[in-house]
Amino acid sequence: MPLETIKLTASFKLDGSISESLFSTYREVLGRLLEYAWTKGITSFKRLKAERYRELRARHPSLPSHYIYTACQMACSIYKSFRKLRKRGLAKAEKPFFKKQVIMLDDHLFSLDLEGWEASIAVENGRVKLKLLHGTYHERFKEMRIGQAWLVKTEDELYLKAVFSKTVELVESNGKAIAVDINENNVTFGSTERVRNIETGERAIRTAYFLKRRRLQSKPRLNEKPLMVKYKGRERRKVEDIYHKLANQIVDEAKGLKASTIVLEELANIRRRIRRSKAINGRLNRWSFRKLQEIIEYKAKLAGLNVTYVNAKGTSILCPICGGRLSPNGYRQMKCKKCGLKQDRDIIAVRNLLHRCQIDVGASPVHPESPPMIGGGKG
Ligand SMILES: [Zn+2]
Repeated sequence: MPLETIKLTASFKLDGSISESLFSTYREVLGRLLEYAWTKGITSFKRLKAERYRELRARHPSLPSHYIYTACQMACSIYKSFRKLRKRGLAKAEKPFFKKQVIMLDDHLFSLDLEGWEASIAVENGRVKLKLLHGTYHERFKEMRIGQAWLVKTEDELYLKAVFSKTVELVESNGKAIAVDINENNVTFGSTERVRNIETGERAIRTAYFLKRRRLQSKPRLNEKPLMVKYKGRERRKVEDIYHKLANQIVDEAKGLKASTIVLEELANIRRRIRRSKAINGRLNRWSFRKLQEIIEYKAKLAGLNVTYVNAKGTSILCPICGGRLSPNGYRQMKCKKCGLKQDRDIIAVRNLLHRCQIDVGASPVHPESPPMIGGGKG
């Protein structure tokens, strides 16, 4: 059975603070490493560490040495993504820089006591213990390994983001799959046997919070900003809660149908879809799609299911039977002029996704009969 490592990030708010000098020293070390990596074109952590460690260690003798390791790692990854953006013409700056108050920690630099809700963090002159306040921590993390973490400082708050991992066994692919088509206000998922459409109601939540924020902006008060942040957090939690429930339904559907695979759309094509919705433009973002996909992916893998991403280009405008171009045929309906297929456009998207996945894995083609639509609203 194929093995796969699942990674989940938990974010804890910390009670107390870390000395400003740790943040400023780290930023200085990171800045130097970044400059060096950029000047010499170094993307390898090993090489950067080999060439810079000694000098930085001598310059900052009170800084625990592993901070230099993690700064090397961060510098390499920041430089790498800068280079990628630059190649695509998307980086405006001449050279990479990093201004955020973020420190990367490895397992020498921090430990978590989840029973006592406490984090221990290495600082310049020993270790500090900080209480964990609320967080996105969940019971399911208990049996997972803790890997690296990040200390993130905002204006007046300190967070610890820790990565938990677990190795799971995935079932062998049996050619049966559930495809998921994500839209701004509804999600359609299903197999060749049946397709379900579930309204998420996300649009209503987003609109309500958008109006709340706008009201707030129209009459500025002294404490306006914390309230804005509070609203943002509440909105996000509400939406995430919907996503968790939805992902559970999708995984249950896959298990019920003994499907081995869940098919998701590749992100590159999702951007185009976002533009389709004018009313919510700028508010329904990549975050939503990626977040939902992430939740589906880890829940699926924890259940031992495989997850495949397929190219979703044209899945809503091409006929799943003959490949002909579809034209609109009433509310949410599409029609194929070539073979006469008439169907709901979300079902069409699901069928196309299944089709592409099965072409990719070389399994049997999709049954040509259209699957029945059950449950949920019309979207
Ligand atoms: Zn057709």
